[in-house]
Parts: sequence; C-alpha cells; structure tokens
Amino acid sequence: MEHDNAGSRAESQGTARTSTSLMSFQQVIDQTFGAKDRARGLGGTFMWFTEEVGELARALKRKEVDRENLVVEFGDVLAWLCTLASAVGIDMEEAAARYMKGCPRCRAIPCACGEATRFHATPPRG
Ligand SMILES: [Zn+2]
Repeated sequence: MEHDNAGSRAESQGTARTSTSLMSFQQVIDQTFGAKDRARGLGGTFMWFTEEVGELARALKRKEVDRENLVVEFGDVLAWLCTLASAVGIDMEEAAARYMKGCPRCRAIPCACGEATRFHATPPRG
C-alpha cells in the first residue's frame, strides 16, 4: 500500500509473518488508511488500485523472480482492493465466501467449467 511514504512502509513490512484473516486485514487497512481513502474518493482510490495492479504486473514480468518484491506487490494490491471494498461497505470475507465451496458457477473443486466457458462466455462468475 504505497500511499504517501511509500518506500519506508514497504521496507518496514519485511517478510515477518503473522496469522491473519481477510476480515482482520480489511479492518486494519480501514483503520490505517480509511479516512484518507474516503477523503480522496472512490475514483482516486480506484486509480491507486489500478496503479498497484500495474506494479504487480511489472513484478510478475521480471525475468528473475524477486520474491520479496512480489510479496510487497501482492500485499499492496490486496490492501487497495480491501480499501475499495470498505469504501462501498463490502465485507471481503463475504466476497471471498462465494468461492469457498468451489466454483460459483459449476460448484466443483476444481472447476469443471472448461476454459471456453471461463474466458469467453457471458458473465462467467455471476
Ligand atoms: Zn466452474
């Protein structure tokens, strides 16, 4: 989550692991950035989200895998996704729950829809 003091936060995150849940993550992100994100508005916050998605794309495209960088970029994308959800009152646990019993469409684990359905049909995950 590279808001204002980008570098220092990314560095201080390190690779320390703590047990977390999507719900507690969303809550911490909201407590940490919610006021700023709401003041910025949905449009500006969505722009930041897409910026972070672009950074993740660049990290994934690297020829040599930089695991630390990938951890940072995945975290940033998740943080911005959660802040967007909070902005419109969506609980990410609820959003994730749709996938916890298998494919929302065919209900199978693994998904049995097939590539054609998944990528070309109308709303594949509706
Ligand atoms: Zn499926």
